[in-house]
Amino acid sequence: MKIIADTHTHTIVSGDAHSTLLENLQAAKARGLQFLCVTEHVSSIPRAAPPAYFKSMCSIPRSYDGVQIARGVEANILDYTGKLDMPDDILDWLDWVIASLHDLVIAPATKAEHTACWLAISENPLVDVIGHCGDPRYAFDLDEVMGAFHRHGKIVEINSHSFTGRAGSRDGCRQVALACMKYDVPIVVSSDAHFVDHVGYFKEALDMLEDIRFPEDLILNADARRFEACLRGKRTQP
Ligand SMILES: [Zn+2]
Ligand SMILES: [Zn+2]
Repeated sequence: MKIIADTHTHTIVSGDAHSTLLENLQAAKARGLQFLCVTEHVSSIPRAAPPAYFKSMCSIPRSYDGVQIARGVEANILDYTGKLDMPDDILDWLDWVIASLHDLVIAPATKAEHTACWLAISENPLVDVIGHCGDPRYAFDLDEVMGAFHRHGKIVEINSHSFTGRAGSRDGCRQVALACMKYDVPIVVSSDAHFVDHVGYFKEALDMLEDIRFPEDLILNADARRFEACLRGKRTQP
């Protein structure tokens, strides 16, 4: 199986990453990716871009040297009602919106609060992708939440960086992927690259998905036409 889009990448604009957009695009091309989603942090993360920066992404071309570019964000969830650190009009303008829980922004709470949070996010039509939700510190009721993600057309990310960069996430990601299979929730596989070497690096995620025999047709970025249709059709899903 070949992943054709890296759906979660950062550049120096994110404040905690170390490569430029051009370097990431060159790496994407060299590694045979057809799409790169640029998903910077917002300024609730120290040194990251303020919301107003994101409209300037209109200067980024739709494609560069054969790689198609999605202008995106990794928005921070600010509280357990699902409030995000980005105005709705900018979220609506962007191509690709990931919502994530980060401990720099929001401390882990109870399983009931995490569950309520993802249920609220599932009802936000401006959120496309659920960011790295296999982190056991933010455990939630998988059955309740995955049922809601299915009903509201959300995409769950299997983030390859979680396997090594977020303690305890190896089993958490596996449980999330199994629940996606059970509830027919589509996924994307991503690198969460903060340095150019990691763009297009998905090994840990792909090994786990192969191990549980995850169906390829539920992996949106395993096929160019499927991923393009997803980018075009997003937010028009129920
Ligand atoms: Zn993140
Ligand atoms: Zn990230």
